[in-house]
Amino acid sequence: MRIGLGYDVHRLKVGYPLILAGVKIPFAQGLVGHSDADVLTHALLDALLGALGEGDIGKHFPDTDPSLKGVSSLVLLKEVVKLVSRKGYVVINIDTVIIAQAPPLSPYYGAMQNKLASLLGIDASRVNIKATTTEGLDFTGRGEGIAAQAVVLLRKNTPRPDTPQNEKK
Ligand code: MG
Repeated sequence: MRIGLGYDVHRLKVGYPLILAGVKIPFAQGLVGHSDADVLTHALLDALLGALGEGDIGKHFPDTDPSLKGVSSLVLLKEVVKLVSRKGYVVINIDTVIIAQAPPLSPYYGAMQNKLASLLGIDASRVNIKATTTEGLDFTGRGEGIAAQAVVLLRKNTPRPDTPQNEKK
């Protein structure tokens, strides 16, 4: 098994959409970035790449790449899910936390969970989404930005010798 950790921050600004795990959330401000600034998906990407020992999002999707301008982070997630599979791993579960003073995010947990689970090809029960405020403290508490953290657990997809498909006929 392999574990991975991801952390990301994006700045909040009026006139930008707020997209978390591919879900557009109604809010007066949104996140600024080279891609769609989906801070939660970025944390997840870094966790997946970290578990694989594959560096980070900047190595695979540099923000100097003009073709990635405004790209949906879910497109990047699809690529990294393929890499997980190519390297012979399956995702056991992911856990995440979004750190934001506003807006309230719990109404969107289900939609975010379903979106990530379908892209990861795992049951929604293996994807946990939660959020916290920082009680008005630090840059998230002042509403200057949103942060996100993710951890993932991967398992090597080695067929067990005792499973029926591997029994000698
Ligand atoms: Mg980012």
